[in-house]
Amino acid sequence: MQNHDVIVVGAGTAGIPAALEAAKRGLRVALVEAADDIGGTLHLSTASISAAGTSIQQRNAIADSPDGHFADYQRINHGTGFAPLVRRWVDEAPETIEWLLSIGWRSDPDTAVFAPEHDLYAVPRTYRSSGLGLGVIAAYRDALDQAAANGARIEIMTGTRCTGFLTHDGRVTGIRAQRAGTEIELGGDAVIVTAGGFSGSDAKWRDFYGFSPLRYGLPTVVGDGIDAVRAIGGTTWFDDYVLPNFGAVRDIGGPPSAWIHSTILPAIRQPWEIYVNLEGERFMREDETHIFARERAVQRQTDWGFWVVYDEGVRWASPPLLKFPPETVEEKFSGPDSDYVRADSIAELAAAMGVPADPLARSIRFYNQGQAVGSDMFEREHLPAPIEKPPFYAVRHYGYAISSYPGIRVDESLAALRADGSRIEGLHAAGEAIGIGFLGLGFLSGSIVSSAITFGRRLGRTVLA
Ligand SMILES: Cc1cc2nc3c(=O)[nH]c(=O)nc-3n(C[C@H](O)[C@H](O)[C@H](O)COP(=O)(O)OP(=O)(O)OC[C@H]3O[C@@H](n4cnc5c(N)ncnc54)[C@H](O)[C@@H]3O)c2cc1C
Repeated sequence: MQNHDVIVVGAGTAGIPAALEAAKRGLRVALVEAADDIGGTLHLSTASISAAGTSIQQRNAIADSPDGHFADYQRINHGTGFAPLVRRWVDEAPETIEWLLSIGWRSDPDTAVFAPEHDLYAVPRTYRSSGLGLGVIAAYRDALDQAAANGARIEIMTGTRCTGFLTHDGRVTGIRAQRAGTEIELGGDAVIVTAGGFSGSDAKWRDFYGFSPLRYGLPTVVGDGIDAVRAIGGTTWFDDYVLPNFGAVRDIGGPPSAWIHSTILPAIRQPWEIYVNLEGERFMREDETHIFARERAVQRQTDWGFWVVYDEGVRWASPPLLKFPPETVEEKFSGPDSDYVRADSIAELAAAMGVPADPLARSIRFYNQGQAVGSDMFEREHLPAPIEKPPFYAVRHYGYAISSYPGIRVDESLAALRADGSRIEGLHAAGEAIGIGFLGLGFLSGSIVSSAITFGRRLGRTVLA
């Protein structure tokens, strides 16, 4: 059996920094990765990162501090996370940014920004990764090359799936893994699980919630960490937390980032359309600016689904709803994609959408009546035009998931815990493997990648210390 000081399971957002930091201390590290390449969910991720009190903010005269970041966590997510871990993250996040800068990562623009896709922090505190997640991966690859040149002992084992843990007297002493169809065992004094969440697993979604929404995730990120930890008595937390991101189109055959084709955030474009659920009913004011309220509204709808409905007048008078070029929009409505429908009457539109005709007709009629007198039944204020001129259009939208709230339960030092609260010695976890529930029910801009990197690095610095 091969032996290492530290085994890191999952060479993604959190795992690579963990391996780098551990190797910097002279430890022998096995970086075990199920996929054929490193990088994990960063291959898909926008990788917006938040941190308060950074050199980038200082250069741009933005006064900020971890205290302000923590206060925003409490205001936006109402204390629904695990405060000690959030506090640790916000305190260490500025250093994460300085480290990223030191390995070649860049923020584009070169300043902190507000992120309108989530409820806003009090000050600009989000950094847009240049090159999105791929920009972070490029910086990671350089850092791994540099570390190897400096004699770091990191054995990167791609194509190797951890299937369970070796234990002795209740302590984790290594892992079992599948590599090229063969079962292998690796010994290690400490194991760090950074195997991500379960966005890639239909079965896990059904296990936790009884249904599986539109999700963006890698096929190798299926919640293996959760299974392996449970098998030795570990437990999960925030099992009942779940929240969709608001409103993606599903671009069949398109890239995973397909949701960006639709502009339905009021901070970016005020709505000219109405939203109806799969029963044909309006369910919210479309110009709601509170993002959590938007997400909760769509969460209450069947399959987190809804349609964005408009007419020929709105199509030409409004700023574009869809970011495709006009000829692509036309192709979508003329082609076989059933998520884009057009019809000459409301009844035909309803049939094409697969929703009952009467509620749809009533939703449009009530909206038009309110629009005429400037008083909407959902208290919507942006009422630019009625929906009355054929042809009528509907674009299917989806509440969607990019991450998982439940994960391996850990303590403040990121040690994995049993159901009775005792530590599983030798076993630690970071990144989405611990779930994003500890950050609270809601989405704090740039918090997932930032905390994954921060805690990955922390474990690399602290295990076996
Ligand atoms: C489309 C999209 C956009 C996003 N945008 C943002 C954003 O802007 N800001 C933000 O903060 N968050 C964002 N997120 C979420 C964030 O990117 C992820 O939560 C984060 O990257 C996860 O990091 P991780 O290290 O926990 O896991 P990953 O980066 O997913 O790494 C886990 C790795 O473990 C490997 N693995 C899994 N099981 C095993 C096993 N049994 N054995 C060995 N290896 C295994 C996987 O192959 C993978 O490489 C986004 C996510 C998506 C999908």
